Amino acid sequence: MDKIEHLKREIAQREAELQDLRKQLAEAEAEKPSVENGRDNTTTSQSDGGGGEGWKWPLEEHEYERYSRQMIVPDFGLQGQLNIKNAKVLLVGAGGLGCPAAAYLAGAGVGTLGLVDGDAVEVSNLHRQVAHSTARVGMMKVDSAVAYLQGLNPTITYRAHATHLTPQNAEEIVSQYDLVLDCTDHPTSRYLISDICVLLSKPLVSASAFQTSGQLIVLNSPPGKGPCYRCVFPKPPPPESVIGCGEGGIVGPVVGVMGVLQALEAMKLLVRGDHRRLKKTRADGTTTEEEEEKDVKQVGMLLFSAMADVPFRTVRMRGKRKGCFACGGGDGSALTLTELKTSLDYVQFCGVNTPVKLLRPEERISVAEYERIAREKRAHVLLDVREKEHFELCSIPGSVNVPISRFTARREGAELEDLIPGGVAVLPPDAPIYVVCRVGNDSQIAARKLKDWGLDRDGERFIGDVFGGLRAWKDGVDPSLPFI
Ligand SMILES: [Zn+2]
Repeated sequence: MDKIEHLKREIAQREAELQDLRKQLAEAEAEKPSVENGRDNTTTSQSDGGGGEGWKWPLEEHEYERYSRQMIVPDFGLQGQLNIKNAKVLLVGAGGLGCPAAAYLAGAGVGTLGLVDGDAVEVSNLHRQVAHSTARVGMMKVDSAVAYLQGLNPTITYRAHATHLTPQNAEEIVSQYDLVLDCTDHPTSRYLISDICVLLSKPLVSASAFQTSGQLIVLNSPPGKGPCYRCVFPKPPPPESVIGCGEGGIVGPVVGVMGVLQALEAMKLLVRGDHRRLKKTRADGTTTEEEEEKDVKQVGMLLFSAMADVPFRTVRMRGKRKGCFACGGGDGSALTLTELKTSLDYVQFCGVNTPVKLLRPEERISVAEYERIAREKRAHVLLDVREKEHFELCSIPGSVNVPISRFTARREGAELEDLIPGGVAVLPPDAPIYVVCRVGNDSQIAARKLKDWGLDRDGERFIGDVFGGLRAWKDGVDPSLPFI
């Protein structure tokens, strides 16, 4: 054990040293004007690392080697590569979507790649967040991702923003970039990212993934013309329907597919120059800054469903929504930067998931009480209403699994016998029924339904739930439960 601890400490220390060196390198490079300028204008061929004196080609020698496979693809070409090289792309979220998206964009030679994320790497991220590693658990995700990306392509500039995007810092961060990828996983951040992109005229590639499905849409493209997130989803989903990947689960390749598609959409925008203010470096070395009139293409939302017979579908979307709160829908008043910073509360807008309060205190028992009932072998039934996959991972001994979905799907008047395995008739008529779930919300819903259906025999039988659910059971009774 000592050896393991020692090695872990050693690795953490080396990682920290490496991190420090990378920071120093990035700072040194940032201070060297020829490199940064070289990325933004025509002096590329004079910057070091190129072909030296007399080098006459628009890209540096090593760039032809690194990017030629994508440059010879029809419609990409040298101009496409120059557009990619001159671009600054921001990824909000360095998780399941951000890791693969960042890897492909770094590989493709995007000049400056920024990452925003305020979380640290956890072991449960690693099955899908491919830029992180076991050795970097505990490190900030942006630093871990940059470490990985430096290894993949050390010739481009990375900016790590180790913070969550907020209404207060959004302008300062997003204004440094030309294009934004929303790689987050909650409605609050989706509305904020879309609003700031509308205000700062940045195209936005938005994607999401959950369990075995995902969706992708390109918004505000061209800036000011394409619909924004609020045009498509003017109202947030009800907060109780928002289930995170920690609770609902996510399959690695599913979120990977969506992240890769985001990178592809971003590359298409960059190669075609679908920004409003596009800085172009021509093959002859001159630069232009053009305001091109771009037509609004038909906007489609790509839906991916891994388990369906037809896994990919595209739904045509209408353009801007008249009177849209953020973009004004093409006419009417639109959101301002000051409003975004001072008066918008995204958490409140998306709603807070208030705890369920369906049972009275006397209808709820503590985990300690239930532990005593089980130990004394008193006649009772314990229903665990988590879904089957959760129940299979771990459960309280003797509990019976009846997923909450069977309670909510049961039609009024349908036979109760089928609900509980073995039927309700086999229960002693006065045996209490206890209900347990993950944290104590669904258990109240199920217990309330059992009462509404008359199973409490007008108060003869106790029906109630275990307060705090499996989480409280793990904290108070059995810490060995491997998963909640
Ligand atoms: Zn809008």
